[in-house]
Amino acid sequence: MSILVYIEHDEGTVKKSSLEAISYAHQLAQNQGEGDVAVIALGSVNESEWSAVGAAGASRIFHVTDPRLNAGIIQAHATVVAQAFEKSGAQIVVLAKSSLGDAVASRLSVKLEAGLVSNVVSLPDTSDGFKVRRSIYTGKAFADTAITTERKILAIKKNTVEIKTDGAAPNVEPFDVDIPENDFAAKITGTDKAEGDVLLPEADIVVSGGRGLKGPENWGILEELAKSLGAAVGCSKPVSDMGWRPHHEHVGQTGVKISPTLYIAIGISGAIQHLAGVNSSKYIVVINKDSEAPFFKAADYGIVGDAFEVVPKLTEAIKAI
Ligand code: FAD
Repeated sequence: MSILVYIEHDEGTVKKSSLEAISYAHQLAQNQGEGDVAVIALGSVNESEWSAVGAAGASRIFHVTDPRLNAGIIQAHATVVAQAFEKSGAQIVVLAKSSLGDAVASRLSVKLEAGLVSNVVSLPDTSDGFKVRRSIYTGKAFADTAITTERKILAIKKNTVEIKTDGAAPNVEPFDVDIPENDFAAKITGTDKAEGDVLLPEADIVVSGGRGLKGPENWGILEELAKSLGAAVGCSKPVSDMGWRPHHEHVGQTGVKISPTLYIAIGISGAIQHLAGVNSSKYIVVINKDSEAPFFKAADYGIVGDAFEVVPKLTEAIKAI
């Protein structure tokens, strides 16, 4: 079985979630017997990334370097991926579940007349048809969904696949595409990214603060901890509502939904609406002075203590490593 993986990059570096998608595709191809994994990469992806892409399990790469594809113009991406699908001889498209991934997948589903399942958490059960398990209700339950179309699209939930690292070097194959001008009708005229900031939705580690930090003037200890870990900073809703932190840092049901490898919640009670946005994190660490705080029930590790004492000590210990 041949599988095509659509990968995303951040200024030339392939995203971790895309390497997970390649590793997923590799396992799926192996389980089905003979087959290979091809990757479609769009825009200015660094060629030095191909070794990681090959190590994750891809044997072929189609790279379309047109710089207009850097901006994530969704319509054009869907057009190119559909053409790569036909060229690769694949039966399945795999990609990472993300806002760009979902937007491309839905358009691709129409173009290829392919059944699409998003938020996939395990390999399909092919003993009787093609059934995939996906995460629903913000990770509280699973649904098994059968895809009955010949062509299939799977969007893989972040942090559910171990990245393979021992694959061989892939072949980079030339690929000419024909993108209608109309696909570029929407234009991104500029992006505003603060220097040095780690983007919250993509971050591998997030350090987040709640009302327990008492005021915006106390955010320094949290930022220091985030800096020592290379983490993004988040906050609870009341914190952004009160103007202590910008709204784009608010995580939860009504804010940004994140799936980092590590989520550190400081002075946050763990209300259900907050958990809805963070409970897909691989590991959750809670720092709260109230041992009865509901967040401890969702935590992998907990520290009962005053944030103003615990956090600086934690930062010091991390810096000493
Ligand atoms: P609190 O509930 O006040 O908790 C503060 C915590 O800090 C307490 O547990 C306390 O023990 C601890 N603390 C105090 N001092 C210290 C200290 N010195 N050291 C350590 N710990 C300390 N909330 C979100 O976060 N995201 C959402 O998306 C969201 N959406 C919502 C949608 C709806 C429709 C509604 C009704 C609510 C929503 N909320 C959301 C709000 C949510 O219900 C909670 O009110 C909110 O998450 C609580 O924020 P908090 O934990 O920062 O504050």
